[in-house]
Amino acid sequence: MGMDGRNTMKKIEEFSDEQIVIVNNAIEMAEDIVSEFYKMSSSQWLRNRYDVLTLSQLSKSEIVFGPFAQIVRYLGKRNKSQLGSGDFDFYRICLQDHSIIQALRENFSLRLDPFVLYIIAHELIHIIRFGKFIQFFDASPDERALEETIVHQSTVDILKKINISGMKEVFKFYGC
Ligand SMILES: [Zn+2]
Repeated sequence: MGMDGRNTMKKIEEFSDEQIVIVNNAIEMAEDIVSEFYKMSSSQWLRNRYDVLTLSQLSKSEIVFGPFAQIVRYLGKRNKSQLGSGDFDFYRICLQDHSIIQALRENFSLRLDPFVLYIIAHELIHIIRFGKFIQFFDASPDERALEETIVHQSTVDILKKINISGMKEVFKFYGC
């Protein structure tokens, strides 16, 4: 996209109302599965630490082309009257509707619900690992690549245990 991209940019494709319903269900399911898998401390930690958003809710800087989702970290400020001091990390899981829709068009065996379930479970595992400082948010490209492999494998391991229609096709899409 050139410097004048703003003037020529077409509207970026968003999920339809029907798709949003499917996506919201998949998000809820991913949250349940991931927090059930990890210890209580992790799922409690996870509460109020993140938001999942679709394209219509994203700011321009949160929209990317290529990835199906990205995590954007913000610094949260604690109210002074609350117990515990200091700032905390808050994560926005930014779903990229246009990229997901494109992938569905190119892969007829891929279905929206298991696909989004995988994507959200994957991002939640990233966030849990950020929280445990297993992986720092500001990692080098090499560390990031390794982290991707680990998180992908964990996601597959967790989702494999549950019988979800269409998930085999998602694994296949990711080459496993
Ligand atoms: Zn990832």
